[in-house]
Amino acid sequence: MSDIIQLLPDSVANQIAAGEVIQRPASVVKELTENAVDAKADSITINIKDAGRTLVQVIDNGTGMSDTDARLSFERHSTSKIRTADDLFAISTMGFRGEALASIAAIAHVELKTKQDNNETGTHIIIEGSKVVSQETTSCTKGTNFAVKNLFFNVPARRKFLKSNTTEFGHILSEFQRIVLAYPEIEFKLYHNDSEIYLLPKANIRQRIVAVFGKRINQNLITIESNTSIISVSGFIGKPEYARKKSGEQFFFINDRFMRSAYFNKAIINAYDQILQPETVPSYFLYFDANPSTIDVNIHPTKTEIKFEDQQAIWQILHSAVKQALGKNNIVPSIDFNQEQGFDIPVLSKDTDIRNPQIEIDPTFNPFEHKKPTNQNPKSSAISLEKENLVNWDKLYDGFEKENQQSNDFSFISIGNSQQTITDQSISDKYFHFKNKYILIPIKSGLMIIDQKRAHERILFEKFLQTLSSESAVTQKSLYPKTIELDTKDHALLMEINHDLKTLGFDIDDFGGNSIIINGMPVDSGNQEPEQIIDKFLNEYLTKEVDAKIQAKEKIAKSLAKATAISSNQHLNNEEMWEMVDLLFACQNPNYSPFGKLIVSIITTDELEKRFN
Ligand code: ADP
Ligand code: MG
Repeated sequence: MSDIIQLLPDSVANQIAAGEVIQRPASVVKELTENAVDAKADSITINIKDAGRTLVQVIDNGTGMSDTDARLSFERHSTSKIRTADDLFAISTMGFRGEALASIAAIAHVELKTKQDNNETGTHIIIEGSKVVSQETTSCTKGTNFAVKNLFFNVPARRKFLKSNTTEFGHILSEFQRIVLAYPEIEFKLYHNDSEIYLLPKANIRQRIVAVFGKRINQNLITIESNTSIISVSGFIGKPEYARKKSGEQFFFINDRFMRSAYFNKAIINAYDQILQPETVPSYFLYFDANPSTIDVNIHPTKTEIKFEDQQAIWQILHSAVKQALGKNNIVPSIDFNQEQGFDIPVLSKDTDIRNPQIEIDPTFNPFEHKKPTNQNPKSSAISLEKENLVNWDKLYDGFEKENQQSNDFSFISIGNSQQTITDQSISDKYFHFKNKYILIPIKSGLMIIDQKRAHERILFEKFLQTLSSESAVTQKSLYPKTIELDTKDHALLMEINHDLKTLGFDIDDFGGNSIIINGMPVDSGNQEPEQIIDKFLNEYLTKEVDAKIQAKEKIAKSLAKATAISSNQHLNNEEMWEMVDLLFACQNPNYSPFGKLIVSIITTDELEKRFN
């Protein structure tokens, strides 16, 4: 292969804003790994020592370099990736400034071994602080092996500025994730101090996301896809109930390059609208494809901030795509109850005062009775009280309608059928109970099916969570306190969370040894025996979630909801079904159980009619 590197003319060099390329070890990882990707490697190994202070080594099986290119690659503005200013705007590779290797070589001890496929031998170069110490031929495998040692050895100020190893390695991990998520077709291995951190086989995007973030993320992903003449967007967004307080799973890629964008982030958060718990951010992995001539990647020295010609249009496209994906997944229920008839699926706005769902119910309250003011009898109707607070669910679509109008300007946006009109209604007030498991409700657009156990879990979960924060539970004192013998671990755990359990209405005391005495239970803990509930609760609490991200209170509420929910085989009369459905739709998130399982499913009239064709 012939030599391919040329020096950039000054005119081009000047168009490239100067910037500091190497700020910390993570920058070295980024630059070397991107070069390996550009060299068409399909397997890349990264070795890190001491968070990159002593070693960052990147080994690839890509094209390799000729002897001359290997030497030239360390010169400032040496690049094989652009030749003229025009190329700058059509660039589709990762690097292009031709200054990474030059910068690295200036501030570290660098060792390079590289060989092209058709060459017998390779080149071995050692450079220290820009000075070539040696260059000789060597025998090595095809590809390139860069070892960067003693970073900032000659820039003590820089070295001092480095944070703890944990922090620096954290930066390395984020750079690593940004690259591996963009190139699932490349195998990556990452080692730190000789222990394996990631072994990522070749995969598709979904598999790669799961390989990086763990299996739990798989059921959380909703596919997103939108193709327009301006931009194509594909990838995944996270279900709202999996949104976390901590960020870290939010990624935009443009033409396979990671990009930061507070602006597009807003488009997404805005599309989730009121279905997110306060202060949580959903995961997203969004891949944009655009004509390189419509983007300017050169506005930031580390090239993660990108300017688009059609920022606003892209904002709209993204916003619609996310809304549509959420709608399709029934996160936003596309049910067409008539608001006036009083049956609404609530969505809480940020400033809604969340109240504790109450269990007493007014049996005379008929939500379908026309024009009955819902606050007529506030004392006896817990549900009507709730309703005052609730923002109509169809408000979710306010933005959507606006978009629909705007979509005239963007004829390529297809809104799909997510939006349904709420007009006349034909809801039956007699519910049908199927197999003591499902509640069936005819609605205008078809047949709604509710899983009773999951619905109850959701109702209890939200109630427990609120009780835990408001400390307002009522205890039902037992006439005959019960003692239970537990094993050491269970006993210790119960005592540890006893305060929270008390808040929920439990009255449990240590009874010496590994025993506890149960003096009282929450008033609404059903008709199960206390020891049965404690047992199920412990089982759930101890076996399921080991996810430290889930807060303790949430975990308690989840486990207790599971332990006290009615079974999948319990008969419910019509009134009980009513109560269940009403309480469910008074929940913040009626669609999924606290364990992420679907609660509400709708068979549309269309689907039904097709069966009789
Ligand atoms: P840039 O990536 O912006 O071109 P760099 O300083 O990162 O600049 O690299 C300079 C040149 O060295 C690249 O253009 C490329 O030709 C060559 N090079 C760097 N790393 C590799 C590699 N791993 N495999 C093959 N060639 C490489
Ligand atoms: Mg580069």
